[in-house]
Amino acid sequence: MAYIEPAPISDKENPFESMMSRFHIASQALGLDDEVYNVLKSPAKQVQVSLPITMDDGSIQVFEGFRVIHSNILGPSKGGLRYDMSVHMDEMKALAAWMTWKCAVVDIPYGGAKGGIKCNPRQMSAGEIERLTRAYTFAMAEIFGPDRDIPAPDMGTGPREMAWLMDAYSKVQGMTVNSVVTGKPLVLGGSLGRAEATGRGVMVSALAAMEKLKINPYQASISVQGFGNVGSFASLLLAERGCRIVAVSDLSGAYYNEKGIDVEHAIKYRDNNNGHLEGFEGAEKILGEELLTLKVDVLVPAATEDVITTENADNIKARLIVEGANGPTSANADPIINDKGIMVAPDILANAGGVTVSYFEWVQNRLGYKWSAERVNRRSDRIMKDAFDRVYNASLEYKVSMRIAAYIVAIDKVSKTYKFRGGF
Ligand code: NAD
Repeated sequence: MAYIEPAPISDKENPFESMMSRFHIASQALGLDDEVYNVLKSPAKQVQVSLPITMDDGSIQVFEGFRVIHSNILGPSKGGLRYDMSVHMDEMKALAAWMTWKCAVVDIPYGGAKGGIKCNPRQMSAGEIERLTRAYTFAMAEIFGPDRDIPAPDMGTGPREMAWLMDAYSKVQGMTVNSVVTGKPLVLGGSLGRAEATGRGVMVSALAAMEKLKINPYQASISVQGFGNVGSFASLLLAERGCRIVAVSDLSGAYYNEKGIDVEHAIKYRDNNNGHLEGFEGAEKILGEELLTLKVDVLVPAATEDVITTENADNIKARLIVEGANGPTSANADPIINDKGIMVAPDILANAGGVTVSYFEWVQNRLGYKWSAERVNRRSDRIMKDAFDRVYNASLEYKVSMRIAAYIVAIDKVSKTYKFRGGF
């Protein structure tokens, strides 16, 4: 094939290179033709805006806002909105493509997008963040829309920002449009089950993978890196299903208890302790890096990207890695993990429970109806389990890792849809 090979990547990868190297391998395994390869590797739209905001002290500060729509082949694009000083166009491009593959793996009718504003929300007042969010929405009014592009929370944003975004968009349209954004507060059309959705999907993926590896959940030991939204719900739900959570960690360090950590207690402790586990007495404190190389059955990285690299991959002893975080494994570490025979439930599969329930939020908003938590959970569990089976079967059919299989499933779906729709 005449693809242009992506440049060799350093271990501290930029996320776009990391994503592209897997995309490239999967495209080759799938035998994707050059034309479609070139269509899928190029973002459909990249928008950058300048947002002058009056700060509380009366000064005017100009912020840079971004939105990248990687693909709208499967449907309106979907992806988070990030407020962070690290936001830049290259990162948005990678994260937008990631969303395309993630939505395709779980077979929901969305393309992929990502947006962000370069800012430090921790140093801004609520009023400043509100004005910035409204200005950004106003600038993106032509981009966003329930049938065009649907944002959601990401790093630095949450239900509060989504409510402002929905309100600003609705004011531009002259009517209430709650389906323009997901991750809203419950009273504004948010979905039951959204808070735990990603952790729940991690649990479903972990149990499905354990079944393939013949690991009995009642005898399984699990360590979980990151004890925020994803890590704590994944820990809780896996513990409820009989697994022994032997280690958890956050930025304050890692906590180990061979007999199993009382996860409910740890969550309560965190919630009463400014959101972190420092001083948690239900376990022995160990170094953060140690958690990744403990002798456990399952490792769940659910904190941040690039934590499993060529430096530590060889020391990992788990039989299964379930990626709650986005991009926790560097592309260069993939072959080391594969050679060790470790199964990986990759990020675009394992953490897709969040976008799945976001999709349910959009569906409920459009129906003008509210589903019970039970209905949300049952439907998202089924979507996650079906996606796992599709990826697992593709890994057997193409004789590739679960990660490459997930990209194959996604690229296959998007490319077939593209061929039906056609270009100009
Ligand atoms: P969060 O901010 O709620 O929690 C992050 C946790 O990780 C915190 O406990 C933090 O202390 C810890 N942490 C950060 N860096 C760490 C490190 N180096 N070592 C150990 N702990 C560390 O974030 P979240 O929403 O749980 O997201 C976690 C990951 O999951 C991110 O990669 C995110 O992109 C991904 N993700 C989240 C969702 C979602 O719905 N929240 C969906 C898909 C993917």
